[in-house]
Amino acid sequence: MNTNLSKLDDHTVVCSAKGCRVNAAYGLLWNNPKLHTPERRKTWLACENHADSLSDFLSKRGFLKDAVPVSELTDEMS
Ligand SMILES: [Zn+2]
Repeated sequence: MNTNLSKLDDHTVVCSAKGCRVNAAYGLLWNNPKLHTPERRKTWLACENHADSLSDFLSKRGFLKDAVPVSELTDEMS
């Protein structure tokens, strides 16, 4: 099932969750208003297993702006 994610161009898209080495399926775009200008977007990569917990972590703090499939991420976002 994941073979299509293992050769995403030359990018390495590994989940951002601590200790997780699984290929990411989603990009979580977030912004911390105390640290970043409003236009700035930080990106966390999340695999299927961690997408919920990572997005929950960000949305509880009001940081989460968007979540997109990894295939829709651009270089500027990473
Ligand atoms: Zn993960």
